[in-house]
Amino acid sequence: MIELWGEAVRSIEERVKPANRDQWLRPIECLAISEGRIRLRAPNRYHKEWFEDNFLPSILENLQMRAHTSFAVEFEVPEESPMTAKPQEAVGESVREVAAWRPTPAGLDSRYTFEKFVVGARNQFGHAAARMVASAPGSKYNPLFLYGGVGLGKTHLLHAIGHEIHRQHPDWRITVVTCEQFVSHFIRSMMNQRRQPSSISLMEEFRSYYREKPDILLVDDIQFLSNKDSSQDEFFHSFNALHLAQKQIVLTCDKLPAELPGVEERLQSRFAWGLIAEIGHPDLETRVAILKRKAEIEQMALGDDVALAIATAIRSNVRELEGALLQLSARSSITGRSIDKEFADEVLKDLVSATPQGFSIESIQREVATYFDIKLHDLRGPKRIQSVARPRMIAMYLARKLTGSSFPEIGGHFGGKDHSTVISAVKKIERLVAEDANLRSVVTTLESHLRQR
Ligand code: ADP
Ligand code: MG
Repeated sequence: MIELWGEAVRSIEERVKPANRDQWLRPIECLAISEGRIRLRAPNRYHKEWFEDNFLPSILENLQMRAHTSFAVEFEVPEESPMTAKPQEAVGESVREVAAWRPTPAGLDSRYTFEKFVVGARNQFGHAAARMVASAPGSKYNPLFLYGGVGLGKTHLLHAIGHEIHRQHPDWRITVVTCEQFVSHFIRSMMNQRRQPSSISLMEEFRSYYREKPDILLVDDIQFLSNKDSSQDEFFHSFNALHLAQKQIVLTCDKLPAELPGVEERLQSRFAWGLIAEIGHPDLETRVAILKRKAEIEQMALGDDVALAIATAIRSNVRELEGALLQLSARSSITGRSIDKEFADEVLKDLVSATPQGFSIESIQREVATYFDIKLHDLRGPKRIQSVARPRMIAMYLARKLTGSSFPEIGGHFGGKDHSTVISAVKKIERLVAEDANLRSVVTTLESHLRQR
């Protein structure tokens, strides 16, 4: 077991300057690891705290991946003399050096780097713009606004910018959020403020988190601001503060700024202040190149003829291409057949004939149950408690809206409910969506999840 610790430490060592490694990492001793617990020894309390803040999260993450379990950490720190408790005098220069090192910012997806992004005719400009911004953040193109359809690589480029900036400026704070996270963080802070108006509010923390702290702000799927007036207002102020301080902002969106419905004009115009770059649908050549690249990453043998067959059959977007590749490899490992043209054609026939983007009542139920963290069984069943009844009504509403199924048919999927029950549920949610901004945002979120599947 104890080797596990050594391995996890080594996995982060390469990202740490040798001086820091000797000063901060090596002196931490692992005394014992057992089921779910680790005992460590640090030379002093100050050292322990530095280690906890700067290295421990990455090491633990790595360790948990290796061991498939989580660990509670205990420290042993020798009684210390007052001398060693004074950090500045004790460790001087190297403290500042360590302060400059941060683990990869939370929220950045490690798969989405520039190295893994395949450049083709339709995303070339977006890619170049992203590279430019990453190499000279905050200077010229602020904000960078990346827009395009679903599954075309916007999120990938957004995160790639984050990784590249982190590589060049490891001490910068990179804040990466989806717009949905921004909005829900804002709503939570605001509700807290209403409940406890006098306390130092979450609202102040929220503001400093977005306005003061970031050196870079990356926001994914900004279209989510549509029709959310107070969130827009808040974002407007964050945007201005960062822009004024010449901090780089990068936004992704499924539309052009001017086409964003329900977004104030002053925001639309700010979104267009910098550089707007479209990410288009990949052409055939790029689709083939992406497939080959993914296969290489997954160490999967993929012949040119097979890649061409997939790229010809699947045109919609890169996410679907990835899905097809995954299906192919899964089915080949189940059936033991090798991935040749004949096998690919069979699998593709199934994939392409499957109803494209079809919503089923089941898929809606699953999405709603996951979102509210309730059991599918309860969602479909007769329970009347509010925590289940409300999600059930939302699921019925979405089923009606997205599948167009008849009321009795929908009722049938919810344990044989009467059609009048379904009608009144759908009516109720329709009314609430019009009146209640929070509920509206829940419903839009669910819809957008479903559409992206
Ligand atoms: P979007 O945010 O535009 O909906 P994503 O960035 O999530 O799309 O991309 C969907 C998937 O396709 C991701 O797994 C991403 O890595 C992959 N992808 C998209 N474009 C490319 C590309 N040009 N090269 C390699 N992978 C890509
Ligand atoms: Mg995305």
